[in-house]
Amino acid sequence: MAQRRNPKISGRDNSQRIDVTVKSGAGKSPFDADAFANERDGSVNIANVAVDRHVVDGHADQVALIWLGKDGDRRELTFGDLKDLSCRFASVLRDHGLAKGDSVFVLMGRVPELYACALGTLRAGMVFTPLFSAFGPEPIRTRMEIGGAKVLVTTAAIYKRKIAEWRDQITSLKLVLIVGDDAPEGCVALGPELAAASPDFAPVHTAPEDPALIHFTSGTTGKPKGALHVHNAVAYHAFSGRHALDLQPGTIFWCTADPGWVTGTSYGIIAPLVNRVTMIVDEAEFDLDRWYATVQNEKVEVWYTAPTAIRMMMRAGAEAAAAYDLSSLRFLASVGEPLNPEAVIWSEGVFGQPFHDNWWQTETGGIMIANQPGMTVKPGSMGKPMPGIVAGIVARENATLRELPDKEIGELALRPGWPSMMRTYLHEEARYQKCFVDGWYLTGDLAMRDADGYFWFIGRADDLIKTSGHLIGPFEVESALIEHEAIAEAGVIGIPDETAGEIVKAYVTLNPGFEPSEALEREVRGHARKRLGAAVAPRAILFRKSLPKTRSGKIMRRLLKARELGLPEGDISTLETDET
Ligand code: ATP
Ligand code: MG
Repeated sequence: MAQRRNPKISGRDNSQRIDVTVKSGAGKSPFDADAFANERDGSVNIANVAVDRHVVDGHADQVALIWLGKDGDRRELTFGDLKDLSCRFASVLRDHGLAKGDSVFVLMGRVPELYACALGTLRAGMVFTPLFSAFGPEPIRTRMEIGGAKVLVTTAAIYKRKIAEWRDQITSLKLVLIVGDDAPEGCVALGPELAAASPDFAPVHTAPEDPALIHFTSGTTGKPKGALHVHNAVAYHAFSGRHALDLQPGTIFWCTADPGWVTGTSYGIIAPLVNRVTMIVDEAEFDLDRWYATVQNEKVEVWYTAPTAIRMMMRAGAEAAAAYDLSSLRFLASVGEPLNPEAVIWSEGVFGQPFHDNWWQTETGGIMIANQPGMTVKPGSMGKPMPGIVAGIVARENATLRELPDKEIGELALRPGWPSMMRTYLHEEARYQKCFVDGWYLTGDLAMRDADGYFWFIGRADDLIKTSGHLIGPFEVESALIEHEAIAEAGVIGIPDETAGEIVKAYVTLNPGFEPSEALEREVRGHARKRLGAAVAPRAILFRKSLPKTRSGKIMRRLLKARELGLPEGDISTLETDET
């Protein structure tokens, strides 16, 4: 059982570890946007900053990446190894006639080659675009079209099953590299190419504003957008890794996200390497015992994961955690969806450390609002804006915005200007421009700020429920529902109603040991009424085996609603679980 150390939700401030005291909006930015610009020519190359710099500084032999294979393999790669491999990968691209600015798509599981490929692509000045390997053919194809893919790196199995058939229709595609020693016809095996390629490849000169990464959003609210990020984003990855996740040189850090989602690249590749941590990469999918064993055996210190996984930990109970020595953990963080207060309190009891919720988006490229190290955690709150990040709550009024006072619900907005902000939505410039009004970037999320400056997530702008004159955020209702011992997860929507405008309807999954029944439905409704009041509590509760989620783990409320109303399902290219 983990020792209880450092309780941080006790209502008092712990000693500040952060040396930056600039409050949001209070003048000069505490992060240095020029932190990594080359003094001679002003260039910034992410691979150079993340890897080569450490090698030059004498850390070639430090382990950068511990890879845990699905089948029990374990491999360590040092910063020196990453430099060598990424140079070789960059050489392969160059030898095949590819050039700066070309877009390199990657579609594979979390194997070491993926990381070599990410860093090699950036080193070569090309644009790295990771896709989640479990996507079906259609989502892969549309994304490759949007991104103008010149190169695809994948496995033979994925290629044959999902790509071979339509590959010729992607006219931009010049090269398909296959991980391993053999390749299907028309493709090139990467293994022999890497072995033969030059291990010397100086990072290509990239200006701070040169394109580096394309990330597609999760598709929770509709068709995914391709957000473009630049090399200088690394300045903010470095800063936020230190100040939101407490990454220090040598920290053992595990970000569980796949690089196919922005978290798995910003905080699963770039931020850890830039901060010279040792990062864990697990090839396998979520398995609670494997996860706890990994924390124990690898002595993970900082753990960054998502609410869906934390709710599974809760579902398995404190006993499941007690079977392992998890005392190495010193900082826990969560992102992707709102983290229910129940989960924060539970984790503090079980790990001696609460999960620190933080908020950001594919568009922002890095953590914007966080329960930061050393800060009192308010369970259910996203925390406070990062130093140098200015956040506000606004209401749209015609073509202008009005800032709202504390405690009022409005749209969460940010003052643009940090380095990891997207530079456009690919081929959707107009949509990108629409995000900016009156000098604010509008996030599409609703939130509220309390008198202490903490931000509270209410829901997506599209998910807000209006019932009998009340405005209800689904998150509040979902959090109250999962406080009931029977409820594991909840997705809440509003459905049209003649008298009330909308009524609240909840879809829930149950914890082990509970079965759906009318009696349970009544009991859960009673619990919700007591917690929330009759106006806000769900009128109907439906039991489900699972909730529809994106592959990045977010509950797709729009799909629950579309089905409820018999409307078209819209883009479901990122849909994962879905059992009724
Ligand atoms: P799409 O934009 O395609 O609909 P998406 O918004 O889910 O998908 P992401 O960029 O992966 O795509 O997710 C960002 C969104 O996730 C945020 O705008 C917010 O709605 C939600 N989110 C992320 N972290 C948190 C958090 N800590 N609390 C509440 N919501 C969060
Ligand atoms: Mg979004």
